[in-house]
Amino acid sequence: MSALDGDGPCMDCGGDNIVWFAPNVIWNEVVGGPGTMDDPGGLLCIPCFVVRANKVLAPSAWRLEPEWPWRYVDPEGEPE
Ligand SMILES: [Zn+2]
Repeated sequence: MSALDGDGPCMDCGGDNIVWFAPNVIWNEVVGGPGTMDDPGGLLCIPCFVVRANKVLAPSAWRLEPEWPWRYVDPEGEPE
């Protein structure tokens, strides 16, 4: 298992995918189209999501954050 093994391959490019998510309102708009209120489903890798989002939302940049729980891993590799 690699760090890129997520829920499944990307539905646009077929590539590996990490486990990630966007806020529901953004995912629905980008994947389902304008005004979509319900989750349209699907799996996208981050680059493919950004390609779609740039056509719909045109953000100036993206923020990447780790999901909780954050944890410290000491230099020996043991989580604390
Ligand atoms: Zn992709």
